[in-house]
Amino acid sequence: MALDRNPGPNDLSAFWMPFTANRQFKKAPRMFVGASGMYYKTADGRDVLDGTAGLWCCNAGHCRPKITEAIQKQAAELDYAPAFQMGHPKAFELASALRDMAPEGMDHVFFTNSGSEAVETALKIAIAYHRARGEGARTRLIGRERGYHGVNFGGISVGGIVNNRKMFGTLLAGVDHLPHTHLPDQNAFTRGQPEHGAYLADDLERIVALHGAETIAAVIVEPMAGSTGVLMPPKGYLEKLRAICTKHGILLIFDEVITGFGRLGSAFAADHFGVQPDMMTVAKGLTNGVIPMGAVLAAGAIHDAFMQGPEHVIELFHGYTYSGNPIASAAGIATLQTYREEGLFENAAALAPYWEDALHSLKGLPHVIDIRNMGLIGAVELEPIAGEPTKRAFTAFLNAYEKGLLIRTTGDIIAMSPPLMIDKAQIDEVFGKLSAVLKSLA
Ligand code: PMP
Repeated sequence: MALDRNPGPNDLSAFWMPFTANRQFKKAPRMFVGASGMYYKTADGRDVLDGTAGLWCCNAGHCRPKITEAIQKQAAELDYAPAFQMGHPKAFELASALRDMAPEGMDHVFFTNSGSEAVETALKIAIAYHRARGEGARTRLIGRERGYHGVNFGGISVGGIVNNRKMFGTLLAGVDHLPHTHLPDQNAFTRGQPEHGAYLADDLERIVALHGAETIAAVIVEPMAGSTGVLMPPKGYLEKLRAICTKHGILLIFDEVITGFGRLGSAFAADHFGVQPDMMTVAKGLTNGVIPMGAVLAAGAIHDAFMQGPEHVIELFHGYTYSGNPIASAAGIATLQTYREEGLFENAAALAPYWEDALHSLKGLPHVIDIRNMGLIGAVELEPIAGEPTKRAFTAFLNAYEKGLLIRTTGDIIAMSPPLMIDKAQIDEVFGKLSAVLKSLA
């Protein structure tokens, strides 16, 4: 091994990039070297408008001084504290701030380092909760087709994205999937929540009838599915799901990793839709994407079921070395303060109608077969090229990057979710550039 060698930043050979076409990337790398507010700076000196808040996470925009300073101060003061059997004030402060921001009743916070870990944690808590109450047979988990719940084994098992599952063997046993809620024939070009499809929640009754409610621990869904192309819950769907779960004693978990922290114009999707889950998973916007961190928020009754037996005994055998890491906690506190002080959730709500109009003005452009939106999130679905799925959207992504706009693609769907600090002129810039990109695909 050449220990004296310093390959420098131009050696791209070692880094195996996640969810990336590595061979294509390394032939024509796209590198960001700086960021400020709504814009990234590329290695070749261009500004790129961030149409996706990084990966749906930089909700307060980039390199915000308050967050940067909080991280610097914490790193100098207390860099790390053992996560098990020891505490430090910042984790407690962030947990309380998160509880206070969350829907009523989400009383307890378990910290993780990512959305994927938050999902694993929530699934494990669900099963352990039933067992703690003497219902140990409740181990089955229910996810949904086209659901994305991160990439760990639990998450891809309840998740419903074929590409994320098919390379990885048998996955978790005892998992069923609800049908997804995307009904393009009836709901294409709907603004906000579609009219048709609430009945799809009734499929849960079929699964209950098949296995018996006494074997089912939890249902996990994204209240609005993000990573599979921005799929809206039809009107009445989440309410039905909630009612069926309650009827059968099944926990309802909302995966709010994307929808949390103002994306839909309310703090959480649970507030936006007025439907209360038993647990929520969050990450991304919790620290503005700056430091990895996730969390599970749990109803009081779930937490309390574990707080029994001798006091010196650990109640839940689960946790991570970096759960509630001091620097991540400091970043989280500063992030939540920034959202509040700058009224960013309110800004998202106020600009949502303008965003919606601008987005739907793309209807009629070449190959556009659907447009969907809610809050500051939007998707444009393109007609796939026969035999070459994803190619058209990927071409749009490359073309947008050249024009100075960052978009995200999943399959043949373009997704956008800008930082919540965006203004009308920047919304015009997003859709001006995207419109030029779509016209160039003709
Ligand atoms: N759940 C949802 C709904 C997500 O959108 C994501 C990330 N896109 C995750 C979980 C996984 O989060 P992470 O990448 O932080 O593990």
